[in-house]
Amino acid sequence: MDVVKLAREIMNGRRLKRGEDLSFFLTCDLTELRRGADEIRKHFCGNEMDLCTIINGRSGHCSENCKYCAQSAHHHTNCEVYGFLDQDKIVQAALANEKEGADRFAIVTSGRTLAGADFEKCIAVFKRMQQECKIELCASLGFLTAEQFHRLHQAGVTSYHENIETSRRYFPSICTTHTYEEKIETIKTAKKEGFCVCSGGIIGMGETWEDRLDMAISLAELGIESIPINALMPIPGTPLEHLPTLPPADILRTIAFFRYINPAANIRLAAGRKLLKNDGEEAFLGGASATITGNMLTTSGSTIKSDIHMLRQLGFKLNPRAPQL
Ligand code: SF4
Repeated sequence: MDVVKLAREIMNGRRLKRGEDLSFFLTCDLTELRRGADEIRKHFCGNEMDLCTIINGRSGHCSENCKYCAQSAHHHTNCEVYGFLDQDKIVQAALANEKEGADRFAIVTSGRTLAGADFEKCIAVFKRMQQECKIELCASLGFLTAEQFHRLHQAGVTSYHENIETSRRYFPSICTTHTYEEKIETIKTAKKEGFCVCSGGIIGMGETWEDRLDMAISLAELGIESIPINALMPIPGTPLEHLPTLPPADILRTIAFFRYINPAANIRLAAGRKLLKNDGEEAFLGGASATITGNMLTTSGSTIKSDIHMLRQLGFKLNPRAPQL
């Protein structure tokens, strides 16, 4: 398969579908594959780079048993445990990230869902940020009802995050307290409310390459606009603690074929950036058009400032609010 030719066809409207033989993505020359992915990214996303930041609004004690996650009460990790954060603390974090040039700010909470008093606190803080901040507001609060999505939307949130994590086939090997179908339903409900949906997954959890291809196709079928790709950073105390981290070439190949399969989406670098050279520099030249950033992601060593500097050097356009460094 000539992947550079395929890239041109995709730019001319071809879309890769379930049932097509996509195994060439796993064996083709990585340099060629990345070159094609970079062309597709430029064609559909231009040189805009989307930078998002998050705050962990409620941490730990989660009833769910996702094998990769430090916050599950089923595992024994050193994760911080706290209830819904103070409103001022969240607003200050949003304003600080806005000032540094991030495009988005998300409240992420542990747990199967966010309900009751914590959901009300969350709505109140989003309403306040809607008034006081210019940054786009995003949320990742688990399985919400249509009514909750409506209230969140009214409170100024524009994008909702719900990862599908992996393929439908492999999902039950990763989590048994909820289903892949519940995730799909949540995504569809969020889309019906008019949210931009951010959904991707984690690679390196023991899945096959075919599972990764399947995940990319499922996201295309759902019409996902933002796709975070995490590479597993095994956490001591979780069932995946002994898995080896992925080699950089595998991460780069995955990012590149996600771009071919989801040509117009924001392919977003997330956890595991430090497994790549210079915090993922090569990924931005091989299909990625977005990244999670922030001074709280201390394990990666990157900050909003260092990301802005690196991305400008690579020729990307950043939010006009981003300071000249
Ligand atoms: S539902 Fe979320 S917080 Fe809970 S274990 Fe799974 S990933 Fe972690």
